[in-house]
Amino acid sequence: MSLSGPVAADRDLRRLRVGVDIGGTRIKAVVLDGGTVRARHLEPTPSDVASTMGPTVAGVLARLMTAADLPAQTVPERVGVVVPGLVDEEQGRAAWSANLGWRDLDVPAVLAGHVDARVVLGHDVRAGLLGEHLLGAAVGVADVLFVPLGTGLAAALMTAGRVVRGTTWTGELGHVRVAPNGPVCGCGGRGCLEAVAGATAVGKRWRAAGREGDARTVAEAVAAGDPLAQEVWAEAIAALAGAIAPVVATAGTRLVVIGGGMAEAGPVLLDPLHVALAERLPDPDGVDVVRSGLGEWSGAIGAAHLPDASFSQQSG
Ligand SMILES: [Zn+2]
Repeated sequence: MSLSGPVAADRDLRRLRVGVDIGGTRIKAVVLDGGTVRARHLEPTPSDVASTMGPTVAGVLARLMTAADLPAQTVPERVGVVVPGLVDEEQGRAAWSANLGWRDLDVPAVLAGHVDARVVLGHDVRAGLLGEHLLGAAVGVADVLFVPLGTGLAAALMTAGRVVRGTTWTGELGHVRVAPNGPVCGCGGRGCLEAVAGATAVGKRWRAAGREGDARTVAEAVAAGDPLAQEVWAEAIAALAGAIAPVVATAGTRLVVIGGGMAEAGPVLLDPLHVALAERLPDPDGVDVVRSGLGEWSGAIGAAHLPDASFSQQSG
């Protein structure tokens, strides 16, 4: 660990928490000082990240430290790294990612030799929920469902203040089949929730009806009162509410936090989703639906706070 300058006193550095979120298109990294985000850094995910994760993360950390006004070679004690897809937190393995092209990647081992810090691996969506609970839309709420809704669709559940981890496929709500004769999904299945209610699916439905644009265009057209847009939107919301309601009812969820690109639609999405959910639940006033408070930074912020109960390994 390299220390220099007044801001880099030992005592201060130990308080710093570092999180790195390796996404399908972008890597986001944060340094937190207590409950304050001291610096953030964002860069495109290299297409060969599966084979270059060590040097990639080392480079991200150096640029993050510079952004935090710390010497580029400053190494925190511990780095939380989160990735999409199937993740085995217990074993520290990125089990599978369709987008990023890895299978059974031992992340702490891959980073050893490149990152001189203890590495804790987590799942991007579960970390996102943790981030929202600590600093975002779910502060003070102990029973929360987090649903990032973009090109992909996944979920993470918190009950009694704990993020449910389960097995590697925990959170794969997007690949629950909700329409047996529905469109083919990226996973090869047919009628998955993601293929019906994800941003790509909504854009496809829109264009199949002869219009131009994507899910964002549809949301704007909904707000402008376009009947076709309202129909496409309502179908997606009904599928989403139908899939979320049983989870909410089972877990006693109080708050549903929607993230991802589609959350940018704001009330156009959140209000009808809240109504559709309330219609399906025994206590219509029991659950709120809100937009993510941290946006695309929730995963990195949660990564910085991953519990040490996750698999961890001292490198070097
Ligand atoms: Zn699927």
